Order: sequence, then structure tokens, then C-alpha cells
Amino acid sequence: MTLPTQDEIRELTCRGLSGCGLDLDAITAGTSAAGVRLRSPITGQELGWARADTPETAADTIGRAHDAFAEWKAVPAPVRGQVVQRWGRLLEEHKEDLAALVTVEAGKTPSEAAGEVQEMIDICELAVGQSRQLFGKTLPSERPGHRLMETWHPLGVVGIISAFNFPVAPYAWNTALAIVCGDPVVWKPSELALLSALGANELLTRAFEECGQSTDVNHVLVGDRSVGEILLDDPRVELVSATGSVRMGREVGPRVAQRFGRSLLELGGNNAAIVAPSADADLALRGVVFAAAGTAGQRCTTLRRLFVHSSIASEFVDKIVAAYGTLTIGSPMDDGVLVGPLVGQGAFESMQAALVTAEEQGGEVLCGGARVLAEDGPDAFYVEPAVVRMPSQTQIVHEETFAPILYVVEYDDLDDAIALNNAVPQGLSSAVFTSDLGEAERFLAGSDTGIANVNIGTSGAEIGGAFGGNKETGGGRESGTDSWQAYMRQATNTVNYSGELPLAQGVEFL
Ligand code: NAD
Repeated sequence: MTLPTQDEIRELTCRGLSGCGLDLDAITAGTSAAGVRLRSPITGQELGWARADTPETAADTIGRAHDAFAEWKAVPAPVRGQVVQRWGRLLEEHKEDLAALVTVEAGKTPSEAAGEVQEMIDICELAVGQSRQLFGKTLPSERPGHRLMETWHPLGVVGIISAFNFPVAPYAWNTALAIVCGDPVVWKPSELALLSALGANELLTRAFEECGQSTDVNHVLVGDRSVGEILLDDPRVELVSATGSVRMGREVGPRVAQRFGRSLLELGGNNAAIVAPSADADLALRGVVFAAAGTAGQRCTTLRRLFVHSSIASEFVDKIVAAYGTLTIGSPMDDGVLVGPLVGQGAFESMQAALVTAEEQGGEVLCGGARVLAEDGPDAFYVEPAVVRMPSQTQIVHEETFAPILYVVEYDDLDDAIALNNAVPQGLSSAVFTSDLGEAERFLAGSDTGIANVNIGTSGAEIGGAFGGNKETGGGRESGTDSWQAYMRQATNTVNYSGELPLAQGVEFL
């Protein structure tokens, strides 16, 4: 296995960008070290520097979005939906282009990168339908000749902050809904995945143009967290929807609340699966290995903790270790590769430190952890996914290490396993593998995560359901079911057609 040359990375990048109507040289032209460094984790080498926004240019962009709100909210919602419909079609046409950029910047395999773009297309379809269903309830009044109703109105500018590992899908979950809800969007993508962001935004701008609508509704801010912080403090940004680490959310939430802005937080996970004695072992094995080692352990929903019933633990863990031995690790541009690179040196060092700590806490590394392809790519960080048997759920197991480490703990009683599942600060995704209906239902009733699955791993959600987690995962919900309501302002209206003025609660006055 060898890594591609930087020229090959550049060629793929240019192809992806030009499909989206952009040019790498133009993006990197005339920039300084004060900009954002563009780099692919596949080789670890630089692609250039893009000019970052300054506080002044960012404020100006937010101002343009804010000014666009008056016009955009007056466009009927189903007409707003037409822009999202067009965006979805453009994403279909340019799926490979955008997926190429996701591969270059996030190191995802083409299949996983295409899956991420497919999520964008799916949410566009959902949002188009939603544009005709921004409905409220009608309620009976206690007063004769009165009617109560709930109505939903456009909110204002939505600021989006996104993480490197899903550079475009969560952006689309937010944006497709925000747009049909009548809100302009200002997006501060991850500084580690700027090119995919520019590509996705360019296609949306094209959709606005082709539909004859204002192109001031969608914007991108370029920069690191300091640029993201501008969205937190600007009172013209009604909602900040931020995806990233718990550390980030801890800073974002209080800061936005300080000015009584709204925030929607999608933060780190520490996801668990329980494998019960009655589980279909082959199905469970495939579910576990994809969830734990896929995307090199860099999904918020990655499986990090596995509770296996003691009666099947040895055999099942041996199977996991054997399956890990068959995973091809290397450049995601090569056919057959299932595990690509970590995002960078920091992620590699966190993984190594976590493995050392796990051993200190009584863990036994059953496989993985070693760096591979280091000679070929000294600036790229490829690792063998690790499986670590732990004597109990020790302190290190309570942390999200954003790398492929699967901690395995044995259990005897399902209630104990559910308690272990719930005993960490994060609450994103969980799963049980069982053929026992009673066990499945006990797990679903007992797990405290925002996503809880039966006979399927912790990762790979569909957009029709609400996506998000509890506790330190932030409590936000995006995508399907009622998530659209986060992007709107709710009002309760009482209409009096009685010709009298009876007061509520029987109050008498005048
Ligand atoms: P990160 O927190 O380092 O950065 C995420 C984004 O936040 C970036 O755009 C960054 O510039 C910005 N940012 C950081 N600090 C900020 C601040 N104080 N103010 C404003 N903006 C700030 O996360 P990452 O390393 O890019 O992504 C990995 C993390 O994201 C993991 O913890 C993962 O679990 C989580 N994640 C969660 C979800 C979810 O839906 N729950 C999805 C993807 C990733």
C-alpha cells in the first residue's frame, strides 16, 4: 500500500472544485499565513492557504444576511422550497465532485463520502416537503366565539458552525430547513474542511441564482474558531447551530445565552452497544466493526464502548479481533480501503495517550494502535483500529477519544449493561444486539441517548429521524420529525369572533 502523490491529491481537488464551479488557484491566490491552511489528511501535505475573514468582513457578511431576511421571509415557503429542490438536483449532478472534496479533506472512502453527499440530497427532499407543512395546531378556547392557534414564523439569521469529520451533511441538515423556514444562513465551516464547504455553498448559490432569488441568503465565513466566535456575539444572529466537541459547546452555549440568543448544540458522543447472548453473532459482528472502525473512528456516532455478555464474550471478541485483521488501511483513494487516515497528528497522539491510560487502568490492548504508512507519509497519520479489553468502565472509557478505539467490558445482567451505557457524560447513540424482544424493549426504555437502535450499530442515521443527543452531547435535534421548529419563531394567536370580550379564567373587569 502506498500513498498518492501530492499532485494526485491536487488533481482530485481541482476536479472536485471545478465540478462545483470553483478554482483552487483562485481560492488560494494572494493569501497570507494569516489565512486558513488547506491540507489533506491523506498525505498530510499542504494544498495552499485561503484568505480568512476578519472581524470587519464577518460583520459585513452577517449584515448582508440580516438585510436579506426581510425579503426572504416574505417569499412564500413553498417557493423557498423550490430553491432547496434545485440545490438537491445540483447536489445529485455534482455528487462525485463534492464527494471527492470530502475524501480529500476528511479522508473518507469514496463510498462514505458519497453517502455524506447523499444525506444532503435526502435532507433537501425532506425540506422541500416540509416547505408545505410548516404547520401549527388549532386549539379549543375556553371562551365562546374564540379560537386559539399556534403559528410558526421565520426566525432570522441562522449561524452554523460545523466540524471537520462531517464537513457538509450537518450543514445541509441545518441549511435546507433554515432556508425553507425563511432564514438566511451564515456558515463557519471547519477550518480543516474548507474546500468541501465552498463547493457545497457554491452549488447553493447557483440554486438561488437559477431560481431568480437573492444570493444574499447564504454565506460562508472562512476562518478558525475566532471567526466562529463572531457569530456567537452578534445579536443579529438569532440561532447558532454548532456541531463539534463538547469543549466547543461548553463555550458556545453560555456565550450565546448571555445575549439571549438561541443555540442548537450537536456535540461529542461516547456511544455504546450491548451484545446479548441471543444476538445474531454475524450480524452483530458486522454492525460492531462498521460502527467502531469505519471512518477511522471519526464519527460522532462511532461505537466506542462494547458491553458483551460474559457467556459469549471470549468468542465474540476473538471474532472482532479477527475481523479487524482483515481491514485494509490506507489512502481512501485506493480501491478496497476501508480505514483512511486520522485527521492529523493531534488525533494520533490522543489515541496513543488513551491507549497508555487504558493499560494503566487495567486494560489489555487486544489489537491495533500502531501507526502505519509513516515512512510513505510522514505528515499523514494512519493507525490500526484498536480493541481494548477493560476490567470495568474506568475513567478513560468515559471520555470520547476521536480515534478508532473500541473498549470492551463484559456484563452479566442487562440492567447493569444499560446502567453502564448511561454512566458516561455524553448521550448521543446506543444499540443493543438481541433476538429477545423483551431485552430490546428494556434497552429502548432504559437507554438515555438521543439515538437508540436495535440490531444495528450506533452510526449511520437516516435523515427522516431527529438527530442529536442528550447530556453533554448538547440536547440539539436536527434533520427530521419536528426539528424544523428550531429554525422558526412560535406564536400563540387567540382570535375573538364573538363580538363580546369575555376574559380568560373568568376574570371580571369593566
Ligand atoms: P471542534 O470542536 O474542534 O470544532 C468544531 C467547529 O467549532 C470548528 O468549525 C471550529 O472552528 C469551531 N469552534 C471551536 N471552538 C469554537 C468556539 N469557542 N467558538 C466558535 N467556534 C468554535 O470539533 P472537530 O474536531 O472539528 O470535530 C470533532 C468533534 O465534533 C467530535 O467531538 C465529534 O463527536 C463532534 N461531532 C458531533 C456531531 C453531532 O452531530 N453530535 C457531528 C460531528 C462531529
